Amino acid sequence: MNFRPDYHTSIWEEIWDAVKLGLILIDSEGKVLLWNDWVAEHSGIPAEFASNNSLESLFPGGLSAPFKTAIKNALSHKLPIILSNALHRSPLPIYPLPITQHEQKRMQQSITITPICVSGKEHLCMIQIADASISVKREGVLKSHSERLSKEATTDGLTGAYNRRFFDERFAAEFGRAQRQNIPLSLIMLDVDYFKRYNDHYGHPAGDKILVAVVTALKAQLNRPTDVVVRYGGEEFAVILPDAEVDGGRIIAEKLRVAVADLSIPHCESKVADHITVSVGIAAYQPGTSCDATCLLKAADAALYDAKHNGRNCVRHLTSAEFSPSGLANEA
Ligand code: GH3
Ligand code: MG
Ligand code: MG
Repeated sequence: MNFRPDYHTSIWEEIWDAVKLGLILIDSEGKVLLWNDWVAEHSGIPAEFASNNSLESLFPGGLSAPFKTAIKNALSHKLPIILSNALHRSPLPIYPLPITQHEQKRMQQSITITPICVSGKEHLCMIQIADASISVKREGVLKSHSERLSKEATTDGLTGAYNRRFFDERFAAEFGRAQRQNIPLSLIMLDVDYFKRYNDHYGHPAGDKILVAVVTALKAQLNRPTDVVVRYGGEEFAVILPDAEVDGGRIIAEKLRVAVADLSIPHCESKVADHITVSVGIAAYQPGTSCDATCLLKAADAALYDAKHNGRNCVRHLTSAEFSPSGLANEA
């Protein structure tokens, strides 16, 4: 550390050098008055060299634009400023120890800039630099924890498909969007045929594997990122298809049915085929019709019921006319 003689006080010198953060004091012209040991170590610039020089000349091209503006504002308008690490990761070319000369990544920094008025006359500016690497690392760990928790809260542990909780939120949101933007929305409900018999014959763990295989097959058929597969319950799945009319939805529903059948997983207890199959119901919301989210859900469910009672391993659909609230009343 280096003091100009008129700022020299030995006790302060000890303190400035002992603190575990960077301290720089500059005068009203931006010249360095104080440069503590921490700054010297982490910048690689000794205090003797820094003294009386401007930051720009000490770090040519190395200062971030917001930092330079903040210093200017602190000196000319006496504005204190905090450059938070969240927005300004590394405004100064200072580095973690040991400093290796080549392509080292800058230290993550939190910077506080404080105007100081000495004896009511001279305006100085103090720059505090704290190493934010540990808090950044902790922030990263917390972020990944929270991402994992939110993933766990919305996905089914067995199959990795979205869960019912996710469905309730996403379906309501997509339905609202369809209504607001006057776009269609298709909803598919699928159910594995004679799955109880499968479990009874092949065992529950084998049944679990079927559910995983079905989800993988369903997901492989969907191209749009907004199309989602949900484990609605037990061996029943829902697929939300935003912006899909009933005809497009029916094509996808049939593709899903075929994809499961094509897995060709033996099911000797099924009454409809010698392999695992699904029954599929699809309903589509058409803009302008008097249908709400509950009504669309009931319609898809009614279509699935229809598929189950018309041979299974097939797709059934309901048109918007059929599932208007009055239409569904007839179904119920
Ligand atoms: P249907 O063709 O009419 O749909 O007949 P089903 O036997 O598939 O339908 P049912 O509702 O009678 O039986 C569903 C079975 O799904 C019963 C239940 O034990 C099984 N199931 C539900 N969740 C799981 C699971 O997570 N793992 C396994 N292995 N089986 C499950
Ligand atoms: Mg079933
Ligand atoms: Mg079922």
